[in-house]
Amino acid sequence: MSLVPQTAFNSTAIVDTVDQHETKMTNTDQERWLRVKERLRVEVGEDIYFSWFARMELDAIEADTIKLSVPTRFLKSWIQSHYAEKLLGCWQSERGETTRIELTVRSAAIRPLQPKLKPVEVPLPPREPKLNGHDLRLAMPISAAHEGLGGSPLDPRLTFESFVVGRSNTLAHAAALQVARARRGDAVMFNPLYIHAGVGLGKTHLLQAVAWAGNVGPDRKVLYLTAEKFMYGFVAALRAQTAIAFKEALRAIDVLVIDDLQFLQGKSTQAEFCHTLNALIDSGRQVVIASDRPPADLESLDERMRSRLAGGLVVEMGALGEELRLEILKARVAAARLHHPGFDVPPGVLGFIAKSVTHNGRDLEGALNRLLAHSKLTGQPVTLEMAEREVRDLIRPQEPRRVKIEEIQRVVARQYNVSRADLLSSRRTANVVRPRQVAMYLAKTLTLRSLPEIGRRFGGRDHTTVLHAVRKIENLVSSDVSLAEEIELLKRQLQE
Ligand code: ADP
Ligand code: MG
Repeated sequence: MSLVPQTAFNSTAIVDTVDQHETKMTNTDQERWLRVKERLRVEVGEDIYFSWFARMELDAIEADTIKLSVPTRFLKSWIQSHYAEKLLGCWQSERGETTRIELTVRSAAIRPLQPKLKPVEVPLPPREPKLNGHDLRLAMPISAAHEGLGGSPLDPRLTFESFVVGRSNTLAHAAALQVARARRGDAVMFNPLYIHAGVGLGKTHLLQAVAWAGNVGPDRKVLYLTAEKFMYGFVAALRAQTAIAFKEALRAIDVLVIDDLQFLQGKSTQAEFCHTLNALIDSGRQVVIASDRPPADLESLDERMRSRLAGGLVVEMGALGEELRLEILKARVAAARLHHPGFDVPPGVLGFIAKSVTHNGRDLEGALNRLLAHSKLTGQPVTLEMAEREVRDLIRPQEPRRVKIEEIQRVVARQYNVSRADLLSSRRTANVVRPRQVAMYLAKTLTLRSLPEIGRRFGGRDHTTVLHAVRKIENLVSSDVSLAEEIELLKRQLQE
């Protein structure tokens, strides 16, 4: 592949003015920094260290404050939200008087590009992932090429290997895998692939998996960008190019992956986005997008753009059901055990977390991290009691709350726009039958009432009718994602 595109992007990439900082620093400071980095590396592990800390620099040491900088806002916010305490801790062990870390984004300055891709300090995917029989490590320098094009950093843990497939994400997963497996020149099946879901349901995970896996083969380039990165890096780089260089650059991208599209703001950015998207799609390149809402709800985009986005494959990922939560937890424990062989979580505890912690993948991760931290710090085995204590605040409020059958009937009636009397009546029209079945199903799953008792409370029906309703809904829920979601929502409403 020609180096033109990299050249084009790098020449205007936002880079730092490092050299000035470094002259102020004494040798001891730099040595300290080296030791802190070493400590960090040991604490967080190679992969994470290289993904997030390799490009961090020491700017100054002042009284109780350590001033550090990173090249992008994304790195900054990621480190702040995930590693602030760890970083401070490492500094404190090196230099006791430290109480504050100041992290900044290195200021923008145009610096001539590095003529070649840097030798790789690559975050290796932890489990030697393979795709189509390719060892992904051979596809390195994945992230060098990726970053050369101005991509956002990839988290080495977010791969297809670690993505658990369940009812709510089967289709999204299959589509993403299809995209990742395509070869340069293959016909594009759906374009763009547009995945939407609520917070913490796996969008970023799936998109980064595409980016990791998609760079298989020497001439295939997948570029993963957050909308933020698209706005502040990519667009700026594009603007500085001539039309020819722009086209040249785009030609180097086989798959453009954009995360969190809902954050794309500003008229001119959107114009650039439309331009990029159209150019890529028209020349048969794949575009993958994730957002927290469907295309039609992206109010700030113009109508034509929305319909273009909706014109490919739009897939929704639903809430993580209990089963999926359990599987994710199991996979996480297995992964954690690679580094912490003593970490053992009894099935009862996993079941408890899967049942009680909210539907968001982040909270699941948080819950397990706490158990891990606790068990490492105290050296004590994980027990149900400990788990209940550690994850209390991640649990839906006052659970298990007692739910009354009347309440279920009221909430369901409201949801389906029928009256409570309709639910209890003997009417058998479809618009009443389904809500009634849903209500019976909820009565069975959320209360301890027996089938005959539920039957009585639904206008004196027989217990076999209730059983039929419960089975019916159970079946439907396993194939109908939107019904499953509706029911999850109703449950949540009732339990809060
Ligand atoms: P989103 O981008 O939709 O807000 P993320 O992709 O960041 O969500 O997911 C949040 C957390 O949940 C991450 O740690 C992710 O790995 C985990 N997660 C979500 N869905 C799955 C899944 N199907 N399998 C494994 N982990 C998942
Ligand atoms: Mg995300």
